[in-house]
Amino acid sequence: MFSTRKNKTFNIPQTNSKSFMDFLKKIEEKWQKRWQKAKIFEANPNPRKPKYYVTVAYPYPNSPQHIGHGRTYTLADVHARYMRMRGYNVLLPMAFHYTGTPVLAMAKRLAENDEDLIRDFTNIYKIPKEKLKELTEPIAMAHYFHQEIKTGMKEIGYSIDWRREFTTVDPHYNRFIEWQFQKLRKGGYIKRGSHPVGFCPKCGNPVGMHDTKGDVEPEIGEFTVIKFKQDNLIFPAATLRPETVFGVTNIWLNPNNNYVKANVDSEQWLISQESAKKLQHQKRKVKVLETFRGKQLIGRQVENPITNTKILILPADFVDPRNATGVVMSVPGHAPYDYVALENIKKTPSKLKEYGISSEAIDSVKPISLIEVPSYSEIPAGDIVKKMQIQDQRDPKLEDATKEVYRHEFHNGKMKQNTGKYFGMSVAEAKDKVKQDLINEGKATTVYELLNRPVMCRCGTECIVKILEDQWFIDYGRPEWKASAHKNLEKMEILPEEMRSEYQYVIDWLHEKACARKSGMGTRLPWDRDWIIESLSDSTIYMAYYTIVRYIKENKIHAEQLTEEFFDYIFLGKGSPVEIAKKAKLGSKILKAMRSEFLYFYPLDSRHSAHELIPNHLTFMIFNHTAIFPENLWPRQIVTNGHVLMEGAKMSKSFGNIIPLREGLAKFGADPIRLGVLATAELLQDADFSPSIAKSMLVRLERLYRFVAEFTKKKCAKKVPKTLLDIDKWMISRLQDHIRKATEAMDKLAVRKAINSIIYELDQDFQWYQKRTAERKENTAKTYVIGEVLDAQIRMLAPIAPHMCEELWEMMGKKRFVSTSSWPTPDETKVDLVAEENEALIMNMLEDTSNIMKATGIKPKTIYYYTAAPWKWKVYRKVLQKSRSEKVKLNEVMRELASEESLKKRMKDIANFASKLLKEVDKMPEKRTETMLKIEKLDETKILEDAKNFLVQRLNAQIIVYNEENSKRYDPKNKAILATPYRPAIFIE
Ligand SMILES: [Zn+2]
Repeated sequence: MFSTRKNKTFNIPQTNSKSFMDFLKKIEEKWQKRWQKAKIFEANPNPRKPKYYVTVAYPYPNSPQHIGHGRTYTLADVHARYMRMRGYNVLLPMAFHYTGTPVLAMAKRLAENDEDLIRDFTNIYKIPKEKLKELTEPIAMAHYFHQEIKTGMKEIGYSIDWRREFTTVDPHYNRFIEWQFQKLRKGGYIKRGSHPVGFCPKCGNPVGMHDTKGDVEPEIGEFTVIKFKQDNLIFPAATLRPETVFGVTNIWLNPNNNYVKANVDSEQWLISQESAKKLQHQKRKVKVLETFRGKQLIGRQVENPITNTKILILPADFVDPRNATGVVMSVPGHAPYDYVALENIKKTPSKLKEYGISSEAIDSVKPISLIEVPSYSEIPAGDIVKKMQIQDQRDPKLEDATKEVYRHEFHNGKMKQNTGKYFGMSVAEAKDKVKQDLINEGKATTVYELLNRPVMCRCGTECIVKILEDQWFIDYGRPEWKASAHKNLEKMEILPEEMRSEYQYVIDWLHEKACARKSGMGTRLPWDRDWIIESLSDSTIYMAYYTIVRYIKENKIHAEQLTEEFFDYIFLGKGSPVEIAKKAKLGSKILKAMRSEFLYFYPLDSRHSAHELIPNHLTFMIFNHTAIFPENLWPRQIVTNGHVLMEGAKMSKSFGNIIPLREGLAKFGADPIRLGVLATAELLQDADFSPSIAKSMLVRLERLYRFVAEFTKKKCAKKVPKTLLDIDKWMISRLQDHIRKATEAMDKLAVRKAINSIIYELDQDFQWYQKRTAERKENTAKTYVIGEVLDAQIRMLAPIAPHMCEELWEMMGKKRFVSTSSWPTPDETKVDLVAEENEALIMNMLEDTSNIMKATGIKPKTIYYYTAAPWKWKVYRKVLQKSRSEKVKLNEVMRELASEESLKKRMKDIANFASKLLKEVDKMPEKRTETMLKIEKLDETKILEDAKNFLVQRLNAQIIVYNEENSKRYDPKNKAILATPYRPAIFIE
């Protein structure tokens, strides 16, 4: 079963980690070459084997990868490798996303000699300075990092079918995306029109999450602008809570900023200078007439268009002139910002003198209550400000305070009598009604603003909202489309399950998304070739393309041959393959093969990505699949994971704690990195990588390697030997439990838990086994057990640390690759409860004795163990049996035991013993009771006698074992009566 030959290729290294590291690098190269040569990761349809199709979001090649990127891809690879060992024909492909802003913006920054970027590229990623010049060309940059990332993926040992590699600017891929967009358009999912979008005024493009710094999705909000008036001059106050217009006490302007009087369409508005610029992007004609400092306007009076009351314009620092119109209506009764700002100016009335505002005038500005909310006073804003102890209008806690008041009022608030016809309405209802009425009466209008501003474009400019005209949109707002997306989601497995509600939220929330832009790399809209499809729209169904791309490459099919009919047949089964093939000048055999390969691998079984792609890419994938493919081809599972921290801190260039992936691989080795990024966290959490974790993994692998090397020198068992001792059975039994636990964990991709079972827990038992058998001569049973443990451990570790495991597998004399061997399954017939209890007894005795020695400080010459009398076992079993069905009653137990002749004479002892047991058994977990009932009785005297040598060595004393009923026992302190089953009594002297 095991080979006795020495490893042919390498000499076993000296014992220091540097040389072992070099050795590991050789092992990695060796197995990567062999995998490639044997083509074991090239997956072709195989009707005799079930398939499993895993993909992971393809990377943007705009910089080298760092260790943080390693987590998502490694997890997908571990998943693929695990399923392969579970007997599936697994496909894991990879491609590169050239399209969109990420590559473009990076090349542009480089072309503009961005110093930070040049420093990162040269200092962190060690890109030669001379090379940088070439990379200013987007396509050159993409090619360069494409190769860099691909090399890294090979070096870390991903089991990718590279025959299916492509880029999103390949002309063939363009044809595929054109087909997708024709389908979307014909299905009514695309529309053209005017819509507000997040927009970079410098780049002149709509922006999505992948175009912004820090990957922020711009969130667009519609503000109601209420037209407060001074004669014909309008002060347009922007608000998200128009229903509070009844409680306005004043207007706020920032005294230190510039405001302008401007013609806006047909009216005269007083707005911030910044706002005047932005409104032009929202289809308004703006002409600036005059510019003021904010201070010049303080103290004027304006009229509330609803209540017709005259109110003051007051100064406030919290007013941000870049937000909406820069004019703010003050509702101190219900808005914490306004409440605090009003309190602030009331404290220093002298400051208002310069604006000609008297302290009486200020004192008369009082919060107005217009909404009734349970568990709040008349003035909810005041309540929360006091509760959160907010003093200053620039306190960041005001954001939370605002949200909290709003949440309560929106869900539980009712409009009061002073709101006229809205009296009695819920806030939720009044909010829309008031807005609509004001707009209909010409007293209000709307503007758009980013709710999460400032959002910065990758070019460094602050993004704004632009109403794009004649823009192409994918209409994710269609209700029936949302329903299909929900349907897909319901049937899908989401790992971790906690993320499901996020998808639900995103599906409901998504609306029209701009899907094309005028510049950049990518696919042109087939019906309007001025437009290029953007990167979150050309990456939603490409998993289908992987299934056929190798045919395109192998048969040198031209892009022009890939017509709409061609894809219609392959992906939808429409049309006659013979006719389509003829038209496309292709063999119909090829066409049919492509169709059947697509149907073999589709639907996608598992999609991997980081959590942050849930609000866009992952949900778009769901939507687009439901629009284009029949229900049986919709994706089945999505797995997302958290970030990677570096020694507890966020990875960031400014912290200088980024380790480029390839540098990490060279320094720590592929398997230690793979283990390191997966061992510290489950899917939901952020992983915490550190060089010391990678090093400790290296040490573990080295220890395992040396052990296997030593072990395989020896002769070994060919079959299960006839004479397994209890300790052998114990190890084999424990092994089954570890296999079961690791398998359950891997099924849920709880890889951290799996690593824990495979490495730490199994090792703990294995070390115990070796200690217990250290004295034993090499015999077939022991060698057999060690062989069994190593065989299972290597196989279970293989998906995570594949290089080392291949090497060990070969050393063990196993055939082919561990990567294509089978995952171990727990064998119930090898579970041996008695053996496990025997061993637990020895462990317990060792621990109890050591504790007594520690507590008393005695260094014993002799240790006496007294095992429980047979009658105690009878009582024990009776109590256990009773406890199964009901709460045990002492008198019942006694009555039943009294019927037994042998027990009659010691009923008093029995009563004492049984009442003590009752308390113990009540606390015992049900599973434990079950196990113990399965065991008739342990021969504790024999077990301890058998382990005597071991115990003597461990405890460094003579050991004598007596049964409690042995009349010749030495028992000066009368300890023996304390013996109970599973817990012999101890006396030391
Ligand atoms: Zn920009």
